[in-house]
Formats: sequence, structure tokens, C-alpha cells
Amino acid sequence: MDGTFSENDISHVVEADKAHIWHHLSQHKPYETTDPRIIVEGKGMRVWDQKGKEHLDAVSGGVWTVNVGYGRESIANAVRDQLIKLNYFAGSAGSIPGALFAEKLIEKMPGMSRVYYTNSGSEANEKAFKMVRQIAHKKFGGKKHKILYRDRDYHGTTIACLSAGGQDERGAQYGPFTPGFVRVPHCLEYRAFEQDGAPVENYGLWAADQIEAAILREGPDTVGSLCLEPVTAGGGVITPPSGYWERVQEICEKYGLLLHIDEVVCGVGRTGSWFGYQDYGVKPDMVTMAKGVASGYAAIACLVTNEGVFDSFKTNADDPLDYFRDISTFGGCTAGPAAALENIRIIEDENLLENTNQMGARMMDNLNALMEKHAVIGDVRGKGLFVGAELVQDRDSRVPTAEKQVTAVVADCMAQGVIIGMTNRSIPGYNNTLCFSPALIATADDIDRITDAVDGALGRVFG
Ligand code: PMP
Repeated sequence: MDGTFSENDISHVVEADKAHIWHHLSQHKPYETTDPRIIVEGKGMRVWDQKGKEHLDAVSGGVWTVNVGYGRESIANAVRDQLIKLNYFAGSAGSIPGALFAEKLIEKMPGMSRVYYTNSGSEANEKAFKMVRQIAHKKFGGKKHKILYRDRDYHGTTIACLSAGGQDERGAQYGPFTPGFVRVPHCLEYRAFEQDGAPVENYGLWAADQIEAAILREGPDTVGSLCLEPVTAGGGVITPPSGYWERVQEICEKYGLLLHIDEVVCGVGRTGSWFGYQDYGVKPDMVTMAKGVASGYAAIACLVTNEGVFDSFKTNADDPLDYFRDISTFGGCTAGPAAALENIRIIEDENLLENTNQMGARMMDNLNALMEKHAVIGDVRGKGLFVGAELVQDRDSRVPTAEKQVTAVVADCMAQGVIIGMTNRSIPGYNNTLCFSPALIATADDIDRITDAVDGALGRVFG
């Protein structure tokens, strides 16, 4: 740390935090006897807390966000210059960084053409749901309004996003939900046996076929879209089984469904491609993205559509209601696209996609090697620098380890100065996957340090 803050300053910050901050994702009772952690500074892959302790961050800011690492002066400068020139203007006007970032983004997304700015992943997904509903009204007499979503996927925190949420515990206390959202089974091959009658060897096809079954059950003329994560994040780092995406694409085309891919986590490099869907040859109609878009240097999210979706909204210029009557106040902030433009330049210039593939492979190799030593690791899966290790009591039964043991592994790593994650407390009994999503700048030494910490922690927690 650079010493800007004295010990007195820091204890004042801690007291102010304890008195006034309502922390995300936190039970507050423990703060009666312990202090919350305050992250004071970051550089590269590392952050420092209020006690000056250094941590190697294997989760890119807690939730898969800081893709290009901390302390990027060129992003700070791009944002600063833009803020001095013009910080904000909203409504129907455009901005210079808005147009230039959209052009750059579309260059990375063949087949897509329009960028709609929002300020969070939830909001981007909400906009996509709204578009599906409006297209249903405009073209199908309101009928094709249902939205299919998948077990274990997560699309955000608002009531409509929770209505499309496949992690029950997150939504349990917030009903009643929005009608018109229909669930299809998850695509986690490792847990295929939990699905009724699913032959494990063809699980990818079976899971995709359940989407068709749901469409037929609901009535194809009532279903407007299918919303999926390319690799499910908080639901357990779920990479799709082979054959899954090809079949999903066929089904969407057969029944005229818009394919909405939620790239809030996977987008902008995390999986080793610009977008996760590109790893599987998918042709989406709508793509939402947030976290890695500007690596957390500014709040920015986007909904990107193809020209077909956009065209649906310009059919009748004389009708005052015939357009997407939607706005996002902070979609008019210019700091977001200014940061995002520099973020993408860094990924290109530093060859970070290549690094992501190489370091992701190293992390998978290291964790697979740990499987030999620790019977508690039941499954290792991932794509690029987005990796999960599922912990089980027994490899044959695949019964998950107790959540408090997984928490103990995370805490042990933290004590060693390595921050790792686990699946969110969202699926009772299934918060048993350790998550790794270091910044795309990770080196071989960083990866080894992370997996060494896991090795030590598993040894101590499980003996
Ligand atoms: N989709 C996915 C896949 C996510 O993981 C998240 C957030 N973790 C969201 C959407 C919601 O994004 P936000 O928190 O920016 O609203």
C-alpha cells in the first residue's frame, strides 16, 4: 500500500462502514464481533486490505469482473479525459465513445449489429425480455411472449430476472414472480443422473431435447425466446456437454425463438474467446454483457442485437408507439464506453485471449492433478480462465460436501493470501463448487500459487 491512509484514517473508515454500509451478499450479525474486509488498493492481480495484507485475487474483484487487472492508468486516463470533455448526456443523443465502442464491439461479434447501453447485467437482461415482449405484441398478437430459461442459470437481481432465475434459493423470498417464464433442465453432465430418465452418455442431446419438449408443452406459438448462459457461472461453472449447443440452435430456428445469450460473466475474454457463445458456434439474436466490458473501471453493460431484432422496431414510423420506448438514465454516462474502448485495446495489444487459453489450460491441469491427491474433488470443469472444482463426499454417490467445509476451504485460502470463490449460496446443498476466475493477465506463477493454496486448504479441511 502507498501509505496515503494512516492507521487512524483506516479505523475511522472501518467504523463508518460498520455503522452505515449494508453489504451486498452479507449477513451482518458477524460484523458485531469482526470487522468487514475493506479493500484499499489493487495492482495487477493483487489487492491490499485495510490491514495492509496482500491478496492474490483469483476471482477478479469477487465476481469475475476485473478482466484486465487492477491499476490500469491508461483506462483511468481515458475516463478522466472523457469526463472533462463530456461526462453525460442521455435520451436519444449519442456520444463519441458510445459510437466508437459500439463499432469496436460489433467488429468482435460477426452477425450482430446494434448496441443498447445500460448500467448493469440485470438491466441489460430486462431490456432483452422487454424486446421479446414488444415483438410478441407487434408481430404475433401478444402470443409469442414466453421466455424459456434454464435450471441453475442466473440472469440478475430484479424481479423479472429472478423470474428467469434457475437458482431457487436466490428467489425464494421474493415472489410472487412475473408470469411467462418457463424453466428447462440444466446441462451439467456431471449431475445428469439427477434428471429423470436421462441417459448420461447423451446428456447434451437429452438436455437440449427438453427445451423442445417445453416448447411443445407450452405451444410453439406462445414461446418467444430462450435465454441461456454460454457457461453457467454462479450455478456451478457449468460447461455445456457436447452436442448441446448445436441442438439448441436447431431448436431455436425450428420454432422461431430468439436466442438470448447472457454473457454477463463470459463476455469480453473470460472464456478465451471474445464471447463464450463463440466457443460453441452459436448464432445469437441478443447478447447481454456487463462485468468484463470495462473490467469494473466504470459501470457499463450492453444489450447487443442483430439487425433482425432491430428491424422489428422500425416498421411504422408514423405510429408514435412503434419503437422501443425504453431508456436507461446512466446508459448516457460516457465513462463506461470510454473505459470499455481502452479495455478492449488492452486485451488486443497484450494478447490476453491467448494468455487466457494458456493459463486456463494450466489451471485445469493443476486441478486435475490435485484430483489424484484429494478424493474430495469430484469434477473439474471450465473454459479459459473460468474454472470450477466441484467437491463431493464420495466420488461414486457424488453427494456434495457440506457447505461449511467449502466455506472453510475458501477461508483457508484467504488466510494464505489467495482469494478464491465458491458457488453462490443459491442452490440448497449444491454450493459445493470452488470457482476460479483470475484476471486474464495471470501468469504461470499466479496460477500455480492459486492451486497450491487450494492443495494446502483441501489437505487441512478434509485431512
Ligand atoms: N447474468 C449473469 C450470468 C450474472 O452472473 C449476473 C451477476 N452476477 C447478472 C446477469 C446480473 O448482473 P448485475 O449484477 O450487473 O445486474
